[in-house]
Amino acid sequence: MTTTACIECGGDVAIAVAPMVGEIAPCRDCGVELEVLGIAPLELALAPEIEEDWGE
Ligand SMILES: [Zn+2]
Repeated sequence: MTTTACIECGGDVAIAVAPMVGEIAPCRDCGVELEVLGIAPLELALAPEIEEDWGE
């Protein structure tokens, strides 16, 4: 495992040394889930939150 900076809070996010696109990496500091969009260079994006109740 290695770490990269969280795009939300700048904290440490643990990711695999060789992450796969689509992998989800949770941030230890703020709790957001980051999805690996690209590997070279490493690109992360906020993963869509999974809500129990979509719509009202
Ligand atoms: Zn964070």
